[in-house]
Amino acid sequence: EYPHAVATMNKAVVIARKAGVLGVNVLGSPNAFDMEIRVGAGAYVCGEETSLLNSLEGKRGVVRAKPPLPAIQGLFGKPTVINNVISLASVPIIMDKGAAYYKDFGMGRSRGTIPIQIAGNVKHGGLFETAFGLTLGEIVDEIGGGTASGRPVKAVQVGGPLGAYFPRALFDTPFDYEEFAKRDGLIGHAGITVFDDSADMMKQARFAMEFCAIESCGKCTPCRIGSTRGMEVLDKVAAGIEAEKNLALVTDLCNTMKFGSLCALGGFTPYPVMSSITHFPEDFKPAPARVAAE
Ligand code: SF4
Repeated sequence: EYPHAVATMNKAVVIARKAGVLGVNVLGSPNAFDMEIRVGAGAYVCGEETSLLNSLEGKRGVVRAKPPLPAIQGLFGKPTVINNVISLASVPIIMDKGAAYYKDFGMGRSRGTIPIQIAGNVKHGGLFETAFGLTLGEIVDEIGGGTASGRPVKAVQVGGPLGAYFPRALFDTPFDYEEFAKRDGLIGHAGITVFDDSADMMKQARFAMEFCAIESCGKCTPCRIGSTRGMEVLDKVAAGIEAEKNLALVTDLCNTMKFGSLCALGGFTPYPVMSSITHFPEDFKPAPARVAAE
């Protein structure tokens, strides 16, 4: 995974070492600081901090129960600070121009800029860095240019594979952590995937459960068992078997996963599932009714 990023980071480390920024005497000072690039095997859950630590230690990427927090007992049992790349990448500009300069970008409590990855059925996909505060509609329609297929946008998933699906009715939502949370969504890593009106949101909801089942580390029951049961129950809904009762069961299951999972993989899977059910109920009608409606 990420071959370009790995190659670029390795080159950057060589440049920094040559410049004396890394090593036992940083820029001739008595302070030591060093960096090493370690490449994981691609498990989604290894983005979770304790799973990441296990992976770095050469173990299976399974989430650790907390406490102890990594800050107390982390990598190889030592106190460890873990930061997202976005946090580290924001440091140079803040050090260079000052906190007030950086804070001047954004809105509410979401300050600074955010690199947004626009993908899916979109005309202008790619990585766009912008200040927080643009509406979702501005990002999708103006930066992304709408769908690549030319058909109307039906849904936009924000926050990666475990983000909520937003319909056009919510395109006035500003790109801001709190504003997204108010609408039962999340910004996550700011990945945006665009879908046109041919998307089947029941299939997307099932895909979320399937993704969770495949990527689950297996440590806790709501995620390990819940995701597989979620697929089965959604299959029943699709087949028109007691659709109402089974949709209620999916909702109940999502509540258990959201509040009972040990980490965000199981805890966030309900976002794409429940947002699909809430905003696109017509896609969850039993198959015969959907065919008749079409
Ligand atoms: S929620 Fe899933 S990935 Fe996270 S600890 Fe539980 S089983 Fe593992």
